Amino acid sequence: MNKRWTIDKIKDYVEKNSESKLLTTEYHGFSQKLLFKCACGSNFEKTFTKFKNNHQRKCDVCQPPKESR
Ligand SMILES: [Zn+2]
Repeated sequence: MNKRWTIDKIKDYVEKNSESKLLTTEYHGFSQKLLFKCACGSNFEKTFTKFKNNHQRKCDVCQPPKESR
C-alpha cells in the first residue's frame, strides 16, 4: 500500500523531524523538488524522498552532500 503524501503531511513531517521548514506549498509527486529553508537561513531544494530516506535535512552548507563511493 502506498502512503499518500500531501503537502500538509510533508510540512508536518519536516517540522517534526528536522530544523528546516518547508516553503513549497504544492506537492505534485515524489520526483518534485521541494524548497526548504534551513535553520541557518539558507534555502535549498531537495526531493522529499531524499529528505526523508537519505536524511538530507539541511542545506548543502550545513550538511555537505556525501560523495558516493
Ligand atoms: Zn544550513
